[in-house]
Amino acid sequence: MRTIGKYSIGLGDRFGHQGAAQLKAIEKASSKGIEITPVWNKSNREHITIGSLPGEVRDEADSVTKSAGFNKAYFVDADHINLDTVDRFIDSSDFFTIDVASFIGWKAEEQDIEEFMESVKKYNGHIKIPGSRLSFKISETQIIEIAEKYLFAAIKAYEIYRKIEKAKGRENFVTEISMDEVTRPQTPVDLFFILKMLASENIPLQTIAPKFTGRFNKGVDYAGDPMVFASEFEADLLVIDYAVKEFGLPENLKMSIHSGSDKFSIYPHIGSIIKKFDKGIHIKTAGTTWLEEVIGLAESGGEAFEFVRDIYINSLERIEELSAPYADVTDIYFSSLPSKQEVLSWDGKKFAETIRHIPGNKEYNANMRQLLHVSYKLAASDIKDYFRLLELNEQTVSECVYENIYNRHICRIFDLTP
Ligand SMILES: [Zn+2]
Repeated sequence: MRTIGKYSIGLGDRFGHQGAAQLKAIEKASSKGIEITPVWNKSNREHITIGSLPGEVRDEADSVTKSAGFNKAYFVDADHINLDTVDRFIDSSDFFTIDVASFIGWKAEEQDIEEFMESVKKYNGHIKIPGSRLSFKISETQIIEIAEKYLFAAIKAYEIYRKIEKAKGRENFVTEISMDEVTRPQTPVDLFFILKMLASENIPLQTIAPKFTGRFNKGVDYAGDPMVFASEFEADLLVIDYAVKEFGLPENLKMSIHSGSDKFSIYPHIGSIIKKFDKGIHIKTAGTTWLEEVIGLAESGGEAFEFVRDIYINSLERIEELSAPYADVTDIYFSSLPSKQEVLSWDGKKFAETIRHIPGNKEYNANMRQLLHVSYKLAASDIKDYFRLLELNEQTVSECVYENIYNRHICRIFDLTP
């Protein structure tokens, strides 16, 4: 199988113009001694909303790495695919995020559950993670509940995996399993048995994305207690380490955090815990690059600013429609959104400051930022003008994209100075 490096970052680039600026952030980290594998990810939903094709992400990744003379590994991630959507990603992707969230809670056949229970008999009562103080009490009834909740999803994951393997060959891609798009988090014990199920299905899993406690809203900070996250994350990490040895999963299996971007308050915890245990990590940053394009255009002033200002004004009238697909990953308080009249009195600088994620800046408005985050559809409907303005103001925009990924994300996770 193709293996992914210890540290990797999922770079979303919805409109396909910022790959070079994103890569520059990766190269900057490398110059400071942190090697991060770039992974360009784009989901089927984003492709449909924008009208782009999976092959375009491959073309972008190939072309920006080539122009930069980047001769290390990079990947193109078919993000959150399932059996119905995987086909058109097969040729261009070499990283597949198999999403089984929608199968969680479906009950597998009685015989499958019985076989599974037989295979985990030795864990009845107690799971002790060797080399740590971590241990969990677990009854047979609780294990049955976990099997009834997750085994069907693991079987489905294998079905999707097999389809990709048949088309591409086992050696030619990286497999991730995601379960993050659900309302209830998985506990470390859930994760332990889920890994057993995936190992039994013979899936060469390299990254796994569980759902953690707390809200991971799009483009804004973590909503929850960072200390609770830290202890859950650490327990998950130790569980993965133990499961790799117990169940014969790939040695380099690591956690994938579908961060929704900008989880600044938990980044230092992630960084220090992976350092403490010498573990790898994959972090998806999602659509934050689109927001940096908006910020860069606002700062450019003139027509570019008017374009993004109009997107915001339009989005105010279409809030319900735009935010509906993202209801579980946004918390937008309508009453805290600046009105059309207010925004019409602003200049580009004020607009940029209001949505740029600098915690502590008195202009920063997380509600407006989230609404714009889900409004990329409006730029897609005027894509010719949007691209023209991006290209016209490339320098300002790409500086915003680079600075965001490097200063605000990579530096916080890997404890580097901007
Ligand atoms: Zn996700």
